[in-house]
Amino acid sequence: MLAKQQSHTLTLGQLMRSTRSDSNSLIRQGQWLRNQLPIRFARRLDEFLQLPYLVVHNQNIKQVFDIYVDTFETVSDFPNIITDRDEAAFADLIRQQLEKHQQVVMTLAWKEFRSARLIAEGYREVRHMYPHLRLDSFLDRLFIARISARILMENYIRMRTPAEGFIGVVQKELSPLQVFQELSNEITRLTEAIYGVAPDIEFRGNLTCTLDYIPRHVQFMGQELLKNAVRATTERHKPRDGPGIGFASRSERIPKVAVEVQKGDVHVIIKISDQGGGMPKRIQEEAWQYGWTTADHEEEDDPYSGGTWRKELAGYGFGLPLTRLHAQYFGGDVFMQALPGHGTDMYLLLNHLKEGSPSTEEDDPSTA
Ligand code: ADP
Ligand code: MG
Repeated sequence: MLAKQQSHTLTLGQLMRSTRSDSNSLIRQGQWLRNQLPIRFARRLDEFLQLPYLVVHNQNIKQVFDIYVDTFETVSDFPNIITDRDEAAFADLIRQQLEKHQQVVMTLAWKEFRSARLIAEGYREVRHMYPHLRLDSFLDRLFIARISARILMENYIRMRTPAEGFIGVVQKELSPLQVFQELSNEITRLTEAIYGVAPDIEFRGNLTCTLDYIPRHVQFMGQELLKNAVRATTERHKPRDGPGIGFASRSERIPKVAVEVQKGDVHVIIKISDQGGGMPKRIQEEAWQYGWTTADHEEEDDPYSGGTWRKELAGYGFGLPLTRLHAQYFGGDVFMQALPGHGTDMYLLLNHLKEGSPSTEEDDPSTA
């Protein structure tokens, strides 16, 4: 059975080494993916089918399941890749599959993460009926596999048309500061639309620091952590009697959120500090579970109340667990130092070594 065969994650170094755009390499890569993807998707499907009936039949989760079936079938059915023409046809197929998995949803929070959003909605609905149901380890495995399949597919497509400053999906000398600055503009705008005010975001530390990394990953993790910090700060310090009334400037009353970048021997460390009140000790663990949130929008379905916007800022309880998965995927991590009653420091560690955590040969597309 395909679902039982081995497959593993890879390091950024392996990924970059495997990225070559000559015709032979592309054929080898195509053939390797043609063999690997069905194994990976079969294993996910196997796991979906072991979930309780009511979970798989949730309409949102079912949509993701159907996309997985589709990818599994179309890739499995593709014949051997021998010539350049076979390979070009295979690339078209992968491009179409990628689009199905990520059809752009025009929201700040989850653009490019359509199936993650469907799963989050579905999980929320299911747990509304069965509050004790927990699928944390299923979701971890699902999202790790998703991250990995998406990297492999996207990297293959990108290596066919090399771009300046990139090796496949990996951007050379990416500036985390720049990513965070762009994010902070978007998040400030969103927060002002919801609350009428927003804290300033300040940057400190090693501002010229760079690393080779997948920009989409840095954006995702940065966005989730910044949204949390900005939301907590605004909720705690917003003026009580309506936005802006009697305030000379927002920065006078709302404490800043600080983003500090430093480069260590192994990791680039991004520390996000807020004065949003932190959280009690007992909650600090729970906050990493899927679906755990203090943003509840049940009573906000009225489109004029700002419920939809709010949902982009917080509400699924998927931000922290997914940020951790992404960070750990390439040998990094994220952890929290909360001072209850005052604020929170979040540390995001991104591995900047070319050789990250060890992996197995078989995982390595460069040995394909
Ligand atoms: P969501 O933001 O959708 O609620 P997250 O996983 O991002 O989900 O966060 C889970 C919960 O952890 C939040 O609802 C909030 O209660 C708490 N939290 C996260 N970050 C912070 C922070 N910087 N300050 C205070 N509380 C936080
Ligand atoms: Mg969040």
